[in-house]
Amino acid sequence: KAKSQGKNEYVVYTADLLNNSIEKLKLEIDLRKAIKNNELVLHYQPQVCIKTKKIVGVEALVRWQHPTLGLIYPNKFIELAEETGLITEIGEWVIEEACIQNKKWQESGIPSLQIAVNLSTQQFLKLNLVDFVKNILVKTKLNPKYLVLEITESMAMDYNYSINVLQELKKLGVCISIDDFGTGYSSLNYLKKFPLDYLKIDQSFVRDISLDENNVNIIKAIITLAHNLNLKVIAEGVETKEQLDILQKYNCDEIQGYLFSKPLSASHFERTLPKLLTEINNIYLRG
Ligand code: C2E
Ligand code: MG
Ligand code: MG
Ligand code: MG
Repeated sequence: KAKSQGKNEYVVYTADLLNNSIEKLKLEIDLRKAIKNNELVLHYQPQVCIKTKKIVGVEALVRWQHPTLGLIYPNKFIELAEETGLITEIGEWVIEEACIQNKKWQESGIPSLQIAVNLSTQQFLKLNLVDFVKNILVKTKLNPKYLVLEITESMAMDYNYSINVLQELKKLGVCISIDDFGTGYSSLNYLKKFPLDYLKIDQSFVRDISLDENNVNIIKAIITLAHNLNLKVIAEGVETKEQLDILQKYNCDEIQGYLFSKPLSASHFERTLPKLLTEINNIYLRG
């Protein structure tokens, strides 16, 4: 009896596996068409300066408007895009779309925003990255200082290669940010050598900030470290006033999180911008 049970489990297991790979294959076929069919969209999440309470930037986050499955979030397709190599094409679309949108906003008269774009490892390692970014800046006429490229610590493991690419990017005038800071394996050595502008404290540190003293100390240390290196600090994943208060107390520069706004479509962002600014002020006033 035990044997047949085991066999059944095995059958279920392979059926699951098969289903999974069929699902994945379907998704891959669809993803190949997604760019061409204009199914990718960017949502923009405001980044607020703690001191001035103004929105100084947005992070562009990709979503896939699938014709039958609805809105798909990056955790459902970025990995697949990386495995299949589609990520470079998607990433290039993201950079171009973000620059086009930011230029549009500037021309519409709203105060200039920095737009942050996430780079994938493959994009970072692709030899034409610097030329690609340069061409997009020329094509869209966006002032380079309004484009921020987010990389992660693990992408910068090949030290000599990374420093070279980052210096080339810096020469274009764009800004560089380390995303998910504190979660990578790399040594801190790169921090003083790489031409960086921002450190983004990973959400995991922010989330647990009020649980115990150690988390506050880590945040404090990251902010001090960054400021000593002349880098600005952004905290991501800020959801509560309590988290904001602590980050403000230790001189964090910018805040990004659901407390102020979820990522929004371009038109939603434009429509709610005036209201958003009032809301941000009210949140600060809250006791
Ligand atoms: P990330 O770059 O660290 O982006 C921050 C993520 O945290 C976003 O998730 C954002 O919606 C979410 N978030 C922001 N505020 C809060 C908050 O207060 N609470 C919580 N729980 N979450 C918050 P999203 O948009 O699902 O993106 C997930 C990840 O996918 C990103 O993490 C980034 O690594 C990747 N990703 C997104 N867009 C792109 C892209 O265009 N290219 C590449 N290569 N990766 C991307
Ligand atoms: Mg990011
Ligand atoms: Mg992040
Ligand atoms: Mg993250």
